[in-house]
Amino acid sequence: MGEFKKPYAVRIGGQGVTRELSIGGDAPVSIQTMWKSPLPGADLQDIARTLGGLEQLGCDIVRFAVPDMESADALVLLSEMTPMPLVADIHFDYRLALRCLDGNVAKIRINPGNIGSEDRVRAVVEKATDRNAAIRIGVNSGSLPKDLAERVERARASGDSTRVRAEALAEAASREAAVFDSLNFKRVVVSMKASSVAETVLCNEDFARKFDIPLHIGVTEAGPLIGGIVKSTLAFSRLLGEGIGSTVRVSLSDSLENEVIAGREILTECGKRPTRVRIVSCPRCGRNGFDVHAFVSRWQRELMSLDKEITVAVMGCVVNGPGEGKHADIGITGAGDRVLIFRHGETVRTVSVADGFDAADQAFREELGKL
Ligand code: SF4
Repeated sequence: MGEFKKPYAVRIGGQGVTRELSIGGDAPVSIQTMWKSPLPGADLQDIARTLGGLEQLGCDIVRFAVPDMESADALVLLSEMTPMPLVADIHFDYRLALRCLDGNVAKIRINPGNIGSEDRVRAVVEKATDRNAAIRIGVNSGSLPKDLAERVERARASGDSTRVRAEALAEAASREAAVFDSLNFKRVVVSMKASSVAETVLCNEDFARKFDIPLHIGVTEAGPLIGGIVKSTLAFSRLLGEGIGSTVRVSLSDSLENEVIAGREILTECGKRPTRVRIVSCPRCGRNGFDVHAFVSRWQRELMSLDKEITVAVMGCVVNGPGEGKHADIGITGAGDRVLIFRHGETVRTVSVADGFDAADQAFREELGKL
């Protein structure tokens, strides 16, 4: 047996219109994001449409904050309008969990230690069982139980507390998991979140040595787009390489779409998701005859939403453009006062730069449609 335990599979979704998927076992690593605004008063149809767009980008699960009963009511309605498996993120109030479980919510994120009496925990577990919903335990380095927080504090006073904090996170998660285990509830996923890469890696490794519960991995409060992606990539590539992590969220101070695209790119590069559209684009330099940056920003989401396995090359000039175009299924490159479009190495269209973006986009769209 390896150093880390293979996680068992937790099935989520499958209620009503909700798509079913597994977390753990032999299932592909799933991608999650979290909705970034309050639900009450929001246009639910519009949210359902956005969830459809996120699914096309590769998103498997979306979590919503449920701080009050209005949010729970809205999430119940939304869960009947979208196939996307939804997760209710609840702190403390078990009644919110019970209300969310009236709908097709696939998973509840709640910690038994925060719910209060055993009766309340039991009520949530019974309803989750009836509704085929899973529960995610989410422990955070900022909210450890008192004895563990004190242990971390003592370690910090005497030097480096990274390992002690990581072990405390794993210990906190195992205590929460033991509560569900004692109630014979097995549809459990665990997350342990720290904002440093080292702690994230160490706590997940520590937990995975001892338990076969599927892990949701993520670096919490990872930061803005670039810093957040760097931290998440470092943590995920190590953990995924060790077989740890059944579902991921790249947490960014940025859009939902970018969280999903970042998660997808990391998983693809770690060999955990099949490659779909791969965009190869040059950084641009003074030789460019074609604005690569503008083209990539106009096209990225659309290309990444395609259900095709293709490589798209976007190059600024003929120094590398045609060469890359040979390897790509489709390519576009600047060439002096013209823009060339390649398919499998053959120039298939030539557009004058003077005709502007629209003409190049139109020609590219037509050629893309032929793949
Ligand atoms: S492809 Fe051309 S424009 Fe792009 S970085 Fe290379 S030399 Fe510069």
